[in-house]
Amino acid sequence: MNTPLNRRQLLRAGLGLGGTLLLASCGLNAQTLTPPDPANTPGAAPLQGLAVGMPAIAGTATWQAQAAKEAVTVLATRPTRIIVHHTDSANTTDLSQARAFALARDIQQWHFANGWIDSGQQFTISRGGYVLEGRHRSLEAAQSGTLHVRGAQCEGFNDVSVGIENEGQYMSSAPPGAQYSALVGLCAWLCQQYGIPATELYGHRDFVNTSCPGDVLYAKLPQLRRDVAARLGVTVRVWPTTRSGMTGERVKTAQYLLRARGQTPGADGAYGSGTASAVSAFETGVNLTPDGVVGSAVWERLVLTVRRGDAGEAVKAVQSQLNTRGAGLTVDGAFGPGTETAVRNFQSSRSLTADGIVGPNTWLALVT
Ligand SMILES: [Zn+2]
Repeated sequence: MNTPLNRRQLLRAGLGLGGTLLLASCGLNAQTLTPPDPANTPGAAPLQGLAVGMPAIAGTATWQAQAAKEAVTVLATRPTRIIVHHTDSANTTDLSQARAFALARDIQQWHFANGWIDSGQQFTISRGGYVLEGRHRSLEAAQSGTLHVRGAQCEGFNDVSVGIENEGQYMSSAPPGAQYSALVGLCAWLCQQYGIPATELYGHRDFVNTSCPGDVLYAKLPQLRRDVAARLGVTVRVWPTTRSGMTGERVKTAQYLLRARGQTPGADGAYGSGTASAVSAFETGVNLTPDGVVGSAVWERLVLTVRRGDAGEAVKAVQSQLNTRGAGLTVDGAFGPGTETAVRNFQSSRSLTADGIVGPNTWLALVT
């Protein structure tokens, strides 16, 4: 039975993964990994669309992990998001399975050295595209679709997220194609197993002050969400992740919408602690994990359709956005003919149906 991580351990977990290491090793002892039949996966929560088979994943026994220092904690709750990391280790040109297995063992040793009971992350992907189990029992939990192994990969979010470490350093270069493809496949399978929407894929930096998963890999996350959705056979709107420390018109839109939804942040375009608290309160009210971050799931619930005759904070958001495109409207919250004309013009410029009604697709275009 394992003791919950104390605060210091959590801090170290958050910081450690942010910039340290992880390696994935998939290949020593090279057993051929045969994906199980998804139809035999109990508790799976297919989102609809296409059934995604389990990718080949080297379990801890395969890469010869050491035993965990304590029994890992298995929660009977599903994670609600996937968090992408980079190991911040060298961009090796060794793409072999042996390298991947060695990486997995190295990471476990690094994390033992941190005082952790086992590898912090649930899964690892090598630059060669090998996928490995990280913390013990993570694979078994994901196969169940209902259980989650508490990791040590993102402070404050270890009970609600699955962490994937990608071998390499992606501040200025992109992951190799094989690695990215493996990431798409693993995310799609995890989303299917746990019922996580394809949009709910985040970078470590979305929740913790870290550069992880690197500027380049982080910038690929919107594409990753689209690619995962395509693998699942679903269509999603991918909204821009908006969070603490950001400033500008998009933040102001979120604030106006929060006000329209009964929260009371100032509409100043600066995403500070008050806005984060308002977001968390809103998330709690709509049964989302209260993380204080406006990701796609939050945007989808925040926006409300407005049209001529409507009034209020959401209309102010529209007017203020249109003014950044030169509309010259008075931001009075009254949706009159001038606002309607500006909306139609904007919709035409974005190849949207020019109906003058601000629905989800127009909102998405306004904030993107
Ligand atoms: Zn990280």
